Amino acid sequence: METEVPPSIEGRGCAEKFKRVLITGGAGFLGSHIVLELVTAGAEVVCVDDFSTGQYANLAALVGHPRFTLIKADACGMGSLHIPCDLVLHLASPASPRDYTRLSLETLQVGSQGTFAALTLARRFRARFVLASTSEVYGDPLEHPQKEDYRGNVNSTGPRSMYDEAKRYAEALTSAFAARYDTDVAIARIFNTYGPRMRADDGRAIPEFIERALTNQPLRVHGDGGQTRSLCYVDDTVRGFLALAASSFSGPVNIGGTEEITLLGLAKIVIKLIGSKSAIQHVDAKHEDPRRRRPDISRAHGHLKWAPRITLRDGLMRTIDAARRLSSASTGAAAVRDPFPQP
Ligand code: NAD
Repeated sequence: METEVPPSIEGRGCAEKFKRVLITGGAGFLGSHIVLELVTAGAEVVCVDDFSTGQYANLAALVGHPRFTLIKADACGMGSLHIPCDLVLHLASPASPRDYTRLSLETLQVGSQGTFAALTLARRFRARFVLASTSEVYGDPLEHPQKEDYRGNVNSTGPRSMYDEAKRYAEALTSAFAARYDTDVAIARIFNTYGPRMRADDGRAIPEFIERALTNQPLRVHGDGGQTRSLCYVDDTVRGFLALAASSFSGPVNIGGTEEITLLGLAKIVIKLIGSKSAIQHVDAKHEDPRRRRPDISRAHGHLKWAPRITLRDGLMRTIDAARRLSSASTGAAAVRDPFPQP
């Protein structure tokens, strides 16, 4: 299946430069958008995913495509696999606080052993390697907005430490492979991204707000809701990530939206756009929830000529439309048969 939407310039650039791409975590939210973009642009893509937080349905339409291969495996054991490729995109990791809290040890393992294995494979085939890192490496930042040279404010034993420290370690490992073996690497620090295919039950604010607003249930806002996020629509994040992959820049580079909004403000916009009768319910503040997050994206702009294009309102409307389509499809047609059901 190819999408009706033509691939972006960044997707085409990547597919022209790299013929065979290995992606870990390609069945997840972000990964599945990248897979689709690359296959549509003409690249051959091999996806390794253990489906711990990803969904087969995200890729079902591509199964059987001549340029797509899906391997169900843990990225931690991937170092011994023979997968010739010229680009490795390493996204495998639980990413939502609910998922990485539940899968704390697995998150640390995939950030360490999984990254080591993915780097080993990239080194063996002399492939370029791109790490999907995160704004969480800045922790609860004391500088605002965050530039790449800010070193962060992370609690190494706190409730988010399994994710934040796994990513910090993965960045260190990536840098060490470049220094020791001259592996061609890049690090993308991705800020909060949203869009179709986020799981409504993964605990992230936007899919939860949309799901509850569509059914007129109260939207739960933690604390006073004054904590801010700057959100980036998935198509923009994918363009930035692929622009980095296609470049020779190693980063680290922030990829994220610069429109800062409070969580309370976000809840109100979602209610308005949906025309929902939902109320807002304030619940306990989350422990160590960062108060402010906003990337300085001048490095991405300077090196990659990248900036987000889709406004928050447009991105939310696209996400809401996709959620509406999904809910009417799941009440109608038969669900996608999953050949990899969880035991
Ligand atoms: P997701 O949970 O939807 O996708 C992660 C994918 O990785 C899933 O398909 C999961 O099954 C797979 N996975 C997890 N552990 C694995 C393992 N050991 N072996 C093989 N596959 C494994 O999350 P996402 O939002 O798509 O995030 C993808 C990547 O981008 C993550 O590395 C995340 O840290 C990073 N990121 C995402 C965001 C965001 O806002 N979505 C922000 C910053 C960074």
